[in-house]
Amino acid sequence: TLVLNNISKAFTKGTPVVREMNLRVADGEFIVIVGPSGCGKSTTLRLIAGLETPDTGQVLLDGEDIAAISPGGRNIAMVFQDYALYAGMSVFENIAFPLRMRKLPKDEIQQKVAETAALLNLTELLPRNVRKLSGGEKQRVAMGRAIVRQPRLFLMDEPLSNLDARLRGQIRREIRRLHRQLGITTVYVTHDQIEALTLADRIIVMGDGVVHQTGTPREIYRRPADSFVEEFFCAQL
Ligand code: ATP
Ligand code: MG
Repeated sequence: TLVLNNISKAFTKGTPVVREMNLRVADGEFIVIVGPSGCGKSTTLRLIAGLETPDTGQVLLDGEDIAAISPGGRNIAMVFQDYALYAGMSVFENIAFPLRMRKLPKDEIQQKVAETAALLNLTELLPRNVRKLSGGEKQRVAMGRAIVRQPRLFLMDEPLSNLDARLRGQIRREIRRLHRQLGITTVYVTHDQIEALTLADRIIVMGDGVVHQTGTPREIYRRPADSFVEEFFCAQL
């Protein structure tokens, strides 16, 4: 279980970017944090990952403060919109990288990479240099590298925003299928209402550093809690 306990974060002495945020994510849940640009989504994700330290409050992973767990022991995987692959390396080496860091035996690495590649339809691309891949293929490699080590938490920050509309739909379905198959607890950040409504078990609507509403896609869509949520979901649909 992931718990955000009254988290606040300010970067300068101005207004906090995240204000007194509370959230409880059950094991295996797929949460989408959605809201307009600049509302604090990426900051929230970085706080969850332990990459930023909250000014007040705590992030608890199975009851343990994330700040007290060494970065190597957290086993949190993150995927970003710009993929952040190792450019000179093959698809195989990119996916194998987290396993090499853990010094797993060679045959185990071989097997895990093969399994992961099969899950993401990357088997034929394994020998290719990632520099030569399309955007959609790169994002699938980034997801492979993230899930190959069976993370306890999978964080995604606008993973589809560099892809065209057709690919977005395709990768979105793959993300959903992967979650069904693997059940990794996921927090997914986007400004896109469609992504939120189609991917989430539960949506967190954020505006200006605060949570406006938490609920299932159906609840949010049918019964928006305030005018902010209503306008946000109507504007693009
Ligand atoms: P977007 O949808 O555009 O990615 P976001 O919801 O992810 O936006 P954040 O990146 O969390 O928003 O940023 C929230 C606010 O915090 C913004 O006003 C941003 O300028 C500010 N901010 C983020 N990171 C820093 C930082 N390291 N130092 C100072 N200000 C920051
Ligand atoms: Mg962001």
